[in-house]
This record gives sequence, structure tokens and C-alpha cells, in this order.
Amino acid sequence: MEPLHRLRNLKSLGDVEMMNFLRGCLVDSKSPDPSVETLLHAFLPHRFVDHTHADAILTLTNMPGGEGRLRDLFGRRVAFVPYVMPGFELAKLCATCFERDPDVEGMILIKHGIFSFGDSALESYTRMIDLVETAEKYIESELMAH
Ligand SMILES: [Zn+2]
Repeated sequence: MEPLHRLRNLKSLGDVEMMNFLRGCLVDSKSPDPSVETLLHAFLPHRFVDHTHADAILTLTNMPGGEGRLRDLFGRRVAFVPYVMPGFELAKLCATCFERDPDVEGMILIKHGIFSFGDSALESYTRMIDLVETAEKYIESELMAH
């Protein structure tokens, strides 16, 4: 993790340079290529991080006025991150958004998806399920025809 953490001090890092660097950090040469979102995970302090592109979250982030609905729904349970293409810039932006309110359970990335995190795999997973189910119930009660 140490070499990954040092990258945070860079002003910018292109996708090709980033992927070459990440491949150089592999501990098993037969591992698949690291995800473009590896640094996003690495820059968060939690031991466990989950990331999905859950339909219920995207339904709300992608609709006009959706971010406002999500902010009303979740309050300070999650941090909100404006849309940026996945890569180094997004990883740095997510870390900055998280550090503004480190008590959050997760982060909603506008027009991208959702992250949850925790000290255990179960805590992170449970938060993901709960956040997504909260969005599902909201859609059902507020947006679906009765
Ligand atoms: Zn993603």
C-alpha cells in the first residue's frame, strides 16, 4: 500500500503511467491487471471497500434533480462526489470528499455508482445493502405509479 499512498502527492497521473505503476506493484505476476479504480480504494483508510453500480443509485443520480433527492434521503450518511472519469483524478477527488466528513458510511458518485466501507467485510457489505435498499424503497414510494 505504501507505494500507492505516495502517488496521492502527484498533481496528475495519466492512465497509461498509472496502470504501468500498478502492474509494478503486483505481488503475483499472474494476477489480472489492477482495476482503474484501484487508487480510489487505496486512498480510503478502511480495510474493506465495496463498490457497485447499483441500478437504484444510478436511477437517482442520472435523473434531473436526483442529487437533491439523494441528499434529502441520505443526509450525512454518505459523501457526494461529482462526475469525473475513473482514474487518478477521481481517486484524489473521492479521498478529498471523504476527508471532509470521515464519519460517512459510503460515497455516492454522481452518474457512476456507490462505495461503502468498513472495518470488517460484513460491515462494508451491510452498509452497501442498506444504502441500496433505502434507494430502492425511495424509488418505489416516491417515483413509481401507485
Ligand atoms: Zn465504478
